[in-house]
Amino acid sequence: MKWYQKITDCILHCFFPVHCPYCDELMTPNLVACEQCQKEIQSVNIFNETDNIRCISPFYYDGIYKRAVLDLKFKNRSDYAKILSHSMAEALKQYFDFSEFDCITCIPPSKNSYRKRGYNQAELLAKGLSLYTEIPFERLLVKIKDTEVQHTISDAQKRKQNVKDAFTVIRQHSDKIQNKTILLVDDILTTGATLGECCKELYKNKAKSVIGITYTFVENKEKVIL
Ligand SMILES: [Zn+2]
Repeated sequence: MKWYQKITDCILHCFFPVHCPYCDELMTPNLVACEQCQKEIQSVNIFNETDNIRCISPFYYDGIYKRAVLDLKFKNRSDYAKILSHSMAEALKQYFDFSEFDCITCIPPSKNSYRKRGYNQAELLAKGLSLYTEIPFERLLVKIKDTEVQHTISDAQKRKQNVKDAFTVIRQHSDKIQNKTILLVDDILTTGATLGECCKELYKNKAKSVIGITYTFVENKEKVIL
């Protein structure tokens, strides 16, 4: 994070105090949690590699991490995104040098969920990650097909089918994809269907390499319904 962004953060903190995503108490900006919760936080910084995706996640989808990401996603706590993305930057650092990436992008929302929520939580995490890593953020993908909400489907194969051909790249940004190393952000990695589909689209448009990063990772796939 650049020095002037840190100063801006401190000034903003006076007017818009930062809340800890794990206990909602006030906290110092630019940390991963309040002092108390920092003692409890245990990142696993897992790197999942399957046939179609490679994805880093700092936490399992469980306990305080699950609650924090669900608050971000469903309880209008968009203010948590920046703090949560700090832990994602820490996890990324375990595996990559930030300078290896050309840009950060995110899973695009469906029009319905964006209208309902008023924000795309994946984009807020991506923008936070961009601040901490100084990798530029770009919107590269759009959702072109109405799909069922993924977290209402428990079967992995059906999830894959549900998002098939649901995304495409924004044509005027193809020069930002070709031969580039891209960091693709989402909030939760479940079966990897959505992330895999977006990776496929980026590779189809000649991306050099795509690495996924999510705040949490669902270890037990039987608990796939959020
Ligand atoms: Zn706390």
